[in-house]
Amino acid sequence: MMIQGDLHIHSYVSDGEASPEEIVKYSIKKGLSVISITDHNTFLGSLSAILKTGNTKKLLVIPGAEIRTLWGDVLVLCQTPIRISANPLILRDEALKNHCLLIPAHPFDVLRLGVGVRSKYVSLWDAYEVFNSSSDLLSNLVSFFYLRNLGKPLLSNSDAHTVEGIGSSRNIFEVSEFSVEGVLEAIRRNFVKPVPSYSILSTIFKLRWGIRIKPFSKNLKERYELYLRLGESHPHP
Ligand SMILES: [Zn+2]
Repeated sequence: MMIQGDLHIHSYVSDGEASPEEIVKYSIKKGLSVISITDHNTFLGSLSAILKTGNTKKLLVIPGAEIRTLWGDVLVLCQTPIRISANPLILRDEALKNHCLLIPAHPFDVLRLGVGVRSKYVSLWDAYEVFNSSSDLLSNLVSFFYLRNLGKPLLSNSDAHTVEGIGSSRNIFEVSEFSVEGVLEAIRRNFVKPVPSYSILSTIFKLRWGIRIKPFSKNLKERYELYLRLGESHPHP
């Protein structure tokens, strides 16, 4: 079975604009069957989406987070949240113990923190995000040409911070079963094809997101309640 997914999305649990529920709604609308809400250093966004919607027949939500490690940003995708660490080697151990995937995010982005040349430590990583719709074209080209021949699965994700950007880049997974483990296994076996793209609409909304007045976010109260509800029930940095 072929399904489409975007595995790098931010909710208002970190610096995104939308709630996890809104992200679920838009993802279904955009024809995605699997997503991961990868907020910075927390699995809360994904967990909240799963709690609200369950993992339904329409959309799978993979528990995920974007971890700021000492080397750069790394996506973690798991069956269940793990204890996170800024030390990539400790993170690797935790990921191995829990059958998670570690994926360098936007590895060669010049403006954001990517793992860069350490992406070539192939035993540490399970796949590479070689295209990120929120990165510039040159950074994406460097990532692709540097990493394409290492025998690892290649992914393209939106890194959306607003709902308009969701699915602007996506992947096609060939899964044997429609489940979180089915998608993780498809990545491990390299049954995945990246479908990279930039969307003009999502770029416009990203610019608007970039200049908003962040401390007075309208979602602050909801976000605070979410932390109270879920914050103590899962491993945190
Ligand atoms: Zn991100």
